[in-house]
Amino acid sequence: MDFDWQKGFSLNFDLNTGLSNNAKSTTRMLSQMSGMYNDNVAFENLVKESNPLVYEFYELGAPNHEGDLAAGTSICYPGKVGQEYFMTKGHFHTILDTAEIYYGLSGTGMMLIENSSGDWGAFPISSGEMVYVPKGYAHRSINVGNVPLVTFFTFRGDAGHNYGAIEEKGFRKLVVEQDGKPTIADNPKWH
Ligand code: MN
Repeated sequence: MDFDWQKGFSLNFDLNTGLSNNAKSTTRMLSQMSGMYNDNVAFENLVKESNPLVYEFYELGAPNHEGDLAAGTSICYPGKVGQEYFMTKGHFHTILDTAEIYYGLSGTGMMLIENSSGDWGAFPISSGEMVYVPKGYAHRSINVGNVPLVTFFTFRGDAGHNYGAIEEKGFRKLVVEQDGKPTIADNPKWH
């Protein structure tokens, strides 16, 4: 799809699966998330067994420009690695000082955020709920339900993604199932 970023456009939107028509998603299979889950044995077993699609996202391809707005949808599938729910890799923005809005379209999840000073937060996100991710915070969405968690996101067009810090250190907190409920726990792998 071509969008007119100079003169504007509107778009039909599929609330369940993300952007409609011929949009192509970027996919993340479980094997692409090596080291990011707490339970290594469960991770290796699930990769061998089925290597499921954990999440995918659609982006409109906004100009890499501070005055434009990048936007798209993210779909995180239901599942767990051991007791830890399926989640996105999570990232800081390359231009750290830029916020982002996520709006829940379907499913049930959490948005986990943390900054480099150690502050963190976990916000519920589901259909009709908005999360404001403040500037300076890494963010990750987590599916704590049984159906795909679909969210719409938008942020400054040139902000970019920095995955490296999270791939190396992880988040301070995990969201795990405990007694049948999503629970926030310390991440023993965090350093
Ligand atoms: Mn972001």
